[in-house]
Amino acid sequence: MDSIEARIQFWRERVDRTRADDAYVYQIPIESIDGAYVSVRGQRMLMLASYSYLGLLGHPEITQAAQTAAQKYGTGTHGVRLLAGTLDLHRELEQTIARFKQTADAVVFSSGYVTNLTAIATLLGRNDVVICDKLDHASIVDGCLLSGAKLLRFKHNDPNDLERQLQVAGDRSKLVIVDAVFSMDGDIAPLPEISRLCKQYNGWLMVDEAHSIGLLGSTGHGIEEHFNLPPDTIDIKMGTLSKTIPSVGGYIAGSKDLINYLQHVAHAYVFSAALPPAQTAAAKCAFEIIEREPERVRRAQANGHMLRTGLNSLGFDTLHSTTAIVPLMTRHEDRALHMAALCQQRGYFVLPVIAPAVAAELSRLRVTVTSAHSASDIEQALDIFKQTGKELGVI
Ligand code: PMP
Repeated sequence: MDSIEARIQFWRERVDRTRADDAYVYQIPIESIDGAYVSVRGQRMLMLASYSYLGLLGHPEITQAAQTAAQKYGTGTHGVRLLAGTLDLHRELEQTIARFKQTADAVVFSSGYVTNLTAIATLLGRNDVVICDKLDHASIVDGCLLSGAKLLRFKHNDPNDLERQLQVAGDRSKLVIVDAVFSMDGDIAPLPEISRLCKQYNGWLMVDEAHSIGLLGSTGHGIEEHFNLPPDTIDIKMGTLSKTIPSVGGYIAGSKDLINYLQHVAHAYVFSAALPPAQTAAAKCAFEIIEREPERVRRAQANGHMLRTGLNSLGFDTLHSTTAIVPLMTRHEDRALHMAALCQQRGYFVLPVIAPAVAAELSRLRVTVTSAHSASDIEQALDIFKQTGKELGVI
């Protein structure tokens, strides 16, 4: 694949082949949503691939907050945040996030992907070292590459290997970055050990909470609450506004000085337009609802437990997931694609994860449940996984 034409052709052939096989299951247009259900080509389907872990997508109060903001401010801003793009709404959202994450301040950007890219590239330079878990999200890896820092990677969730990499980094300026909950595996970073090592080796610690806000901790405040650690355990707290928070955007929460630095140097803040008012107001409203309705958090956790234990008792391998993100391992790309296609034909919206997102031998369905699912929804989903899993020889 050593030319632009060859790369484009490779992907055309790959997609054409999968379509010819009736196994192309991506990019299905959703026509409407109704709690844990969606409508696709007129067919009602149980959603098992959502990031809206607390069922807040479509929440009437959040939708109303977005409509009110659009009425008041219009649909865009006057440009970039540093110049005329800042609204009172942006500062209110940032203060809400800072309070939620117990930091002195916070700053928002227009996507989670962009947040990782710009924050990491702004903080690090060529003489620094960045140390990542091997399964860190692509946006983290891309940020590291853009920064020009030396990139070291440690074995997934392995503090001993992290320690070896910290020793390799020596006395250069170091930043350790992990996902709090790994988006494809649903397991949790061992924060107590990681933060202890960062302190011991004088490294900064950044944690991506894209999949842990709302899901971890007894009230959904995230990974520190889950491990009962103090709020200053993490130096740079990153999260998205596009998953549990049903909007779009990303944030960094941390010290006043850190946020001041990003507000003046981060390219995505200085050279890219501000979050639109409707999305900003929706995000703020969602944080408030999470704090007001902690029972959503408990339901999402209980539903994750029910799905995992149900799949395990049917004989499925779910790796080390302990959250509402549950990998159902097929270990073969074709089986993952066909199992997803069969489930979809039968009314269950589930998606496969295959190479290059994971290694081909780690192909899987990535199943998620949210607080919007009922016990009977999950029982029905387990029945369909049992039936299709047997038909395709996964169990
Ligand atoms: N970090 C992680 C761990 C993610 O899973 C994602 C989204 N899949 C992002 C960052 C990027 O967030 P966004 O979709 O809001 O750009």
